[in-house]
Amino acid sequence: MKQLEITIHNETGLHARPAKTLVNLVKKFKSDIVIWNGEKKANAKSLISVLTLGASKGSQLKFEVNGEDEETAVVEIEAAILSGLGEGEAVHSSQTTPSAQKTESTSTEQKPQKENMLRGVGAAPGIAIGPVFHFKRQEISLDEVSSGLVLDWERLQDALARAREQLENLNQQMIEKGLQAEAAIFDAHLGLLDDPELTDAVQTRIQKGQDALKAWKETIEDNAMVVATLNDPILSARADDLRDVGRRVLKLMVGADDKMDVLPDKPVIVVADELSPSDTVSFNKELVLGFCIVNGGPTSHTAILARALGLPAIVSVNESVLKLENDSYIIVDGSDGSLTFNPSPEELQAAEQQRNQWIEKRRVALEQANVPAITADGHEVEVVGNAGSLTDAEKALKMGAAGIGLLRTEFLFLERTTAPTESEQFDVYRPIAETMGKLPVIVRTLDVGGDKPLPYIEMMREENPFLGERGIRLCLNRPELFRQQLRAILRASAHGNLLIMFPMVGDIEEYRQARKMLDELQTELNIPRVSAGIMIEVPSAALMADVLAKEVDFFSIGTNDLTQYTLAMDRMHPALASKQDGLHPAVLRLIAKTIEGAHKHGKWAGICGELGSDPYAVPILIGLGIDELSVNVPSVPLVKAQIRGLNVSELRNLAQQALECSTALEVRELVKKTLSM
Ligand code: PEP
Ligand code: MG
Repeated sequence: MKQLEITIHNETGLHARPAKTLVNLVKKFKSDIVIWNGEKKANAKSLISVLTLGASKGSQLKFEVNGEDEETAVVEIEAAILSGLGEGEAVHSSQTTPSAQKTESTSTEQKPQKENMLRGVGAAPGIAIGPVFHFKRQEISLDEVSSGLVLDWERLQDALARAREQLENLNQQMIEKGLQAEAAIFDAHLGLLDDPELTDAVQTRIQKGQDALKAWKETIEDNAMVVATLNDPILSARADDLRDVGRRVLKLMVGADDKMDVLPDKPVIVVADELSPSDTVSFNKELVLGFCIVNGGPTSHTAILARALGLPAIVSVNESVLKLENDSYIIVDGSDGSLTFNPSPEELQAAEQQRNQWIEKRRVALEQANVPAITADGHEVEVVGNAGSLTDAEKALKMGAAGIGLLRTEFLFLERTTAPTESEQFDVYRPIAETMGKLPVIVRTLDVGGDKPLPYIEMMREENPFLGERGIRLCLNRPELFRQQLRAILRASAHGNLLIMFPMVGDIEEYRQARKMLDELQTELNIPRVSAGIMIEVPSAALMADVLAKEVDFFSIGTNDLTQYTLAMDRMHPALASKQDGLHPAVLRLIAKTIEGAHKHGKWAGICGELGSDPYAVPILIGLGIDELSVNVPSVPLVKAQIRGLNVSELRNLAQQALECSTALEVRELVKKTLSM
């Protein structure tokens, strides 16, 4: 047996993400692996067990490894813990950031507060008018169902197998819909279902004579309670996941699968304290007009799903909404986060008119998705999509995108314990290149580091990760990792029209070093020159744009980061979310400088941050001379439709006026007034 004593340095200890990274690593070894935290003992292959160790920063853990691969296991576990176990939030590039919510939802001016109005946060745009339906999950009472129902171990196994099947299907469905975050939730549920600690505990209870139903329910509840009482918000979400999985299996065991939790047979607005992922996907979407949720922010799964389904939703609504009468009519405005109850006939009429306009606007935009984005006075703007997977690319094509303006490659590198090989990467880039054919695909090289480290990369701890070894800085300091990615992209470029883009460039030397490596690899692989551009995300790069433009092939402005760095506001900070506005004149001035710098040297400049799909920003960006807008895929048809209704000759003046405004709000008001929005 091998032993390893090691201290945990992760800021928040072994919470969900690092624990999952550790468990995933440990599972690949045949040896039995036990972890001790003082008196507490855990099976290292069980996520639940590891979480309940309650290991915090500074905890001294002891690993006992026993089996044929114990030597390798100890070495790899030590290396993974020393490198931080992938500590950090889910990659922000694939999340919708608080500022990203503004695109359509918070950009419109807020309605004045009225007595019959409640406020929340707009999470998915659009207007819903309809009766309230208070969704309350039906808990299964064991007293009612378990009398006379003694389920044995095999029948529990059968329910587990069916739950696994359901979750695999849901995971697949979400992937097909391009809902990566939802897919990840169901994937996590699958992991919990297979947790050895859970099944062992249930088996022990059954062996002691408890019926399987009770054994399952009580084991789930005991474990969820332990996880929830660790007093960590991330872990309490895990406890909710555990309960959600528990309910799914329980329903299958009692045969209640199709009979519970259904909506009434008429369209309703679902009002709830909270909704679990399983609740949300179980609704018949034909009967849901919108969502109104007391808990959860704009990045909650209900919000993500509502946006994908095109259903209006508001979240963080005042809890007095729970007291509204069932069936009473309400108006939910997912664009400004308001809820009107007891609406007057005039209010209903106005809301209906607004809703119809919104629906019509979307319908026309979708119908004309393939019509080019040419302004009324003949100026063409390239509208392309942001993608993070092959599914996104396929969807972008259907939505009329003229290419992919930002392919985020992080997804390939996260949630694993070793770096993807060159051929694994090639196998992912190639079908994306083939799908898009002649249309351009701008592949962004790995943009991780700092706040989102990878377990297999050794990194220093950083006080200010957003100002640390991020993006291109990280890749240049790890030439082998970088070379492998560049080689994979270059090889895939033979199968389509790929361009390369480097993130977080702040200095021309960084670009030169990266381009040099690219040139060397092109020669080595005998591949024709591939265009390479940079993201403008750092104020220094925007200010030096005219110098950079002499050497780079193009610019793509990452307004999410450019806003964060210009306004000195953490893009994930909830308290600063409402102030994080890319239409701030300071950000606009940097955008103007970037476009000017590019054009001076005959290069093009695009936008790939969320600002590109903000209907208030589109006219200004075009007025400033932007050549390309790369936007989230569902927004492609809407942005194209908006462009077709604009006159570029009027927008130049508007853009110049915006640069002279004092605040983002002034800019928004200017656009609203000038274009009668
Ligand atoms: C940006 O910063 O605007 C951007 C597009 O990159 P990401 O959101 O992936 O950081
Ligand atoms: Mg960025």
